[in-house]
Amino acid sequence: MNDGELTGQVRTHITDLEQPRCAVHEHVAAPFLNLRRAALADGFDLVPVSSFRDFSRQLSIWNAKFSGQRPMLDAAGQALDPQDLSPWERIEAILLWSALPGASRHHWGTDIDLADGNASPPGYRPQLTPEEFAPAGPFAPLAGWLEVNAARFGFFRPFRGVLSGVQPEPWHFSFAPVAENARRGLSVAVLREAIAAAPLLGKDEVLERLDELHVRYVTKIDWP
Ligand SMILES: [Zn+2]
Repeated sequence: MNDGELTGQVRTHITDLEQPRCAVHEHVAAPFLNLRRAALADGFDLVPVSSFRDFSRQLSIWNAKFSGQRPMLDAAGQALDPQDLSPWERIEAILLWSALPGASRHHWGTDIDLADGNASPPGYRPQLTPEEFAPAGPFAPLAGWLEVNAARFGFFRPFRGVLSGVQPEPWHFSFAPVAENARRGLSVAVLREAIAAAPLLGKDEVLERLDELHVRYVTKIDWP
């Protein structure tokens, strides 16, 4: 992937699927459909709730949280008032739940947030919350199935809440063979260039500590 692809500023690496509707890296489409077929055979309807997301989308999420237009939550899921927080505290809070624009694994098209269409009532929109995937939640059986089977298809969970600075995301799966190349390609310099050119709230603070953020949110991920 080139710098624009690594930071989600172009979508030249992305293929749009119709069934199920999603946008993934051209080399991830076939492995994902294989995973989906195997899941279906065991009774799970893998729904890609979120797949490729571009830089400008991530930027609008970031700026809406930073400015208080979208709720900012602490690690326990409680709402925070951005007015009470310094710019750096806001950045830390946003990063618990949202990626820095340019540093989202969803930019690569290798990462997909999954739910089970067979486990939710008609019309229900998966929220991707820890409760949904907890033992009593509707997606607990899916989480168990993926835990056992995803690796056979090349998928793993980068955010298990162990090494990664991101909260545990039991719904977030990544296709390792392509994602690992992207992770190695997304250097601090590539990320810095993308952020420096963007109207990102808190940009000065982010750029000042970009080396540290790069380690916490790009380099360090969880392996099985
Ligand atoms: Zn995700």
